[in-house]
Amino acid sequence: PPDVEELGRSTWTLLHSMAATYPEKANMEHQANMGGFLKFFAKLYPCWVCADDFQAWMAHPSGRNQPKLESRKEFGWWMCEAHNEVNRKLGKKEFDCRLWEERWRTGWKD
Ligand code: FAD
Repeated sequence: PPDVEELGRSTWTLLHSMAATYPEKANMEHQANMGGFLKFFAKLYPCWVCADDFQAWMAHPSGRNQPKLESRKEFGWWMCEAHNEVNRKLGKKEFDCRLWEERWRTGWKD
């Protein structure tokens, strides 16, 4: 099986990059495509325990963790929260989601 850490870093790069290039206001087709991608991604991610937990998190019965797909801002924030959920599970530091765009879209201001 692939190295779970290396796979994770590469995959978060892909996922946050998809959020960074998501439309500012997404039409129905974009929303449906991304919703479908995430659903299949969560089934097919080649770390099975990771995939199971991720699916369960997304499908929380309250509906609170469903992908927010109307705009780049909402989707980027949602992805950051998804990543923070995994960070918490692994005992890593949580990321300040207010810095999400700087990290993944516009570049750090320093
Ligand atoms: P990563 O967590 O890979 O993060 C990479 C970079 O993203 C960081 O350096 C930081 O700059 C930035 N970042 C960090 N947090 C955020 C955030 N919240 N929002 C935006 N940017 C952020 N590993 C397991 O061992 N068990 C699991 O169950 C597991 N589940 C996973 C589920 C998914 C869907 C994915 C994609 C990965 C999963 N992983 C899991 C892998 C794990 O999340 C890490 O990728 C891996 O441990 C390497 O961590 P890292 O410290 O190098 O940084």
